[in-house]
Amino acid sequence: MLRRHLVSTWGVTAIAAVGLTACAELGVVSDGTSISVGKPSKGYIIDGARIPDKGEGFFTREVWQQRGVRYGTDEMVDLLTGVARRMYEKVNRETRIVIADISKKGGGPAEQWHRSHQAGRDVDLLFYVRDARGKPMEPDLMRLFDKAPDERLLAKDGSGITIDVPRTWLFVKELVTAHEAAVQWIFVYEAIAVKLVEYGTSINEPEAIIQRVRNTLLQPKDAMRHDDHMHVRLYCTPEDRRLGCRDIGSMANLEEREQEHAAMGGAILAAMGGALPALTTGVPAAGTAKVSAAASRPNPASLRALGRFVYTHLDRFQLRR
Ligand SMILES: [Zn+2]
Repeated sequence: MLRRHLVSTWGVTAIAAVGLTACAELGVVSDGTSISVGKPSKGYIIDGARIPDKGEGFFTREVWQQRGVRYGTDEMVDLLTGVARRMYEKVNRETRIVIADISKKGGGPAEQWHRSHQAGRDVDLLFYVRDARGKPMEPDLMRLFDKAPDERLLAKDGSGITIDVPRTWLFVKELVTAHEAAVQWIFVYEAIAVKLVEYGTSINEPEAIIQRVRNTLLQPKDAMRHDDHMHVRLYCTPEDRRLGCRDIGSMANLEEREQEHAAMGGAILAAMGGALPALTTGVPAAGTAKVSAAASRPNPASLRALGRFVYTHLDRFQLRR
């Protein structure tokens, strides 16, 4: 609980700057936010966050509320709430996203339902869909979809419900460009992935975005084919990686994403202006402020940690409104 006191002040920056490894096993010192430990299929979470059952642009259905598999890293919860808010505007506030399972409280196996989902970095999300008349609707359950002879992605249950490809494309694009977290994979059935990329190409999305989406969408070989939902997995944050978080598989997009996130932390700091020297070294004596500020420039990890800390807590604040 010591850490809780530490993170309640700007002191977190100084901690991040002096080193992130001390007492990691005890969860005493970290980057000031949650820690995802281990692999998605063998791991746990320290100080995870619970996503609310509903918020601006998102909600969950009762079946997933009851399971209680609703805990993720701070980055995960920030990603979901941030993307949901932005998507809600993009779809004219017509439909909210439906968030299914993340991880159990504290993570670990949730074997009844999932092999992975252990370390707070996996989440199941439902597709944007339209009803049989073509009207946007909020998905009520996970339905199996496949490519119909007329090329639509049609539910196999005879309901006439289809995947809304343009909106699902926007959703995927929002996920792979979000400032809150770096998405490693979006596991989804190949026929759906192909349709999404075809659509992105048809509306002349930038090649860099198309390539990033291509690197991210994958039909898993050794698990369900994910024709009824998308399974999003996050990369470890650099700070969590030093504390035992393990990425498995492709590292495509990672470097690019980390650079974008570091730039984000830097931009927040720049916006905060002169507060920085006092945060890292204490208030400099009068007359020496200029020298001290230059000498105490924080390293990239502490910049990221501060950026992360600021927007995590801003988001918590917004959730509490
Ligand atoms: Zn899943």
